[in-house]
Amino acid sequence: MKYIVSLDQGTTSSRAIVFDQGGSIVSVAQKEFEQIFPKPGWVEHNANEIWSSQAGVIAEALAGANLHAKDIDCVGITNQRETTVVWDRKTGEPICNAIVWQDRRTASHCEKLKAAGLEDTFLKKTGLVLDAYFSGTKITWILDNIPDARQRAQRGELAFGTIDAWLVYKLTAGKLHITDHSNASRTLLFNIHTNDWDDELLKALNVPRSILPDVRPSSQVYADIADGSALNGVPIGSLIGDQQAATMGQVCTEPGLAKNTYGTGCFLLMNTGTQAIQSKNKLLTTIAWNRDDQTTYALEGSVFVGGAAVQWLRDGLKIIPSAPDIENLAATVPDTGGVYFVPALTGLGAPDWDPYARGAILGITRGTTAAHIARAALEGIAFQVADLVSAMESDSGSKLKELRVDGGAAANNLLLQLQADILQTPVVRPTVLETTALGAAYLAGLATGYYKSIDDVRTHWQADRTFEPNMPANQAQALRARWRQAVERAKGWEPKDPN
Ligand code: ADP
Repeated sequence: MKYIVSLDQGTTSSRAIVFDQGGSIVSVAQKEFEQIFPKPGWVEHNANEIWSSQAGVIAEALAGANLHAKDIDCVGITNQRETTVVWDRKTGEPICNAIVWQDRRTASHCEKLKAAGLEDTFLKKTGLVLDAYFSGTKITWILDNIPDARQRAQRGELAFGTIDAWLVYKLTAGKLHITDHSNASRTLLFNIHTNDWDDELLKALNVPRSILPDVRPSSQVYADIADGSALNGVPIGSLIGDQQAATMGQVCTEPGLAKNTYGTGCFLLMNTGTQAIQSKNKLLTTIAWNRDDQTTYALEGSVFVGGAAVQWLRDGLKIIPSAPDIENLAATVPDTGGVYFVPALTGLGAPDWDPYARGAILGITRGTTAAHIARAALEGIAFQVADLVSAMESDSGSKLKELRVDGGAAANNLLLQLQADILQTPVVRPTVLETTALGAAYLAGLATGYYKSIDDVRTHWQADRTFEPNMPANQAQALRARWRQAVERAKGWEPKDPN
């Protein structure tokens, strides 16, 4: 019996998970690394530390299960998306810290591109909105701000990559400079319809083609690991961005199937098959994966504050000692007593996209208690996700049959019941909640033949619990209408920066 090792390189930690063929976890190792905040709004990682933490957990996960390279069929890689690394091709040394997806330093560059009328060009070609979140303007910033970077790039001495590309480069001892379609689709440089880097976009962002990685399928045997580590000689079989990996891990492999991850924020992705649907509701169009010469697309919406609202009740308001305690507190009341909590603590993501919105708790009366606010916080998470689902249903023209869920806050049964009620759609939680790592493992196993087909993979996905809606439809509708009124009150609260 052989195993698959998934490398799950996240924003705050690097993890390695060993799966058996049934998709069960055999061993896990995890290491956090430093978050660097040089200035307000800037977020950086040391790419060398990302690599060393990742290499460390690989060895630890193998040792934890007493396994060796010969026991491992292949390795799958999934990663925090958009985070940008530029390194020297000869020495393999990054020329500066990685700029993390959360970093806002290029917001004004995005504003300039919008003022130049380029928003529509980027949207049509990449499926993305012009935002500092994506890699494109981060690359430009590095080339324009790190001494000699642009000249060195012009001479072909530098390589750009998202974290997947960086890990493959290190794992293959510098042999490969590649990325996959799902990661490329988050750069603002990749045309998701032609599946190639786009010269017009490269010109608009002043990025030379010579620094870009080769774009490969998300599931393919790219090369064997050659870094002399515990996994030396094991083939790498997948590269895929974390949210897309979770979509695969939830086996949302048919058009119309969707998953939501309830973490710090919430990420909803709906498989739209071979069709790249351009959203009319401010969702992103993205590549889910590319395999067997076929590109599968998805619609994506993200909520900035999901589980983080629960953290705020714990750390800011201090009305719960730990995040899971919110469930018992909220269950002590039958409803919120008319209280609405809009968790726009860092502005609103899709579909409202309002950076000036701020958190709001409305409808407070003298009878309001901590329990009502706790329940309103859970409802606030569920309402935001419901808004994304409605936007997706409207864009795709089909009603969601069920919502598959994962992430830390998906452990909360009350949250999932409220979600089912508000959506009027069943919510399904699988037995294995490590869907991100699992998705990378599936794609890697499909590349080597460890798994024969998607049908083979599908047999391993198992529901732990299904939450059926049991609120009358008209009541759900009334609550949602009132929620939208609350959102309107929270929008535009913060004055716009005059600069
Ligand atoms: P991330 O990967 O974004 O760091 P996780 O998937 O680990 O997040 O989920 C952690 C988040 O979920 C935290 O914001 C935490 O407040 C929230 N959370 C964890 N457990 C619960 C729970 N039982 N009920 C509600 N929220 C929870």
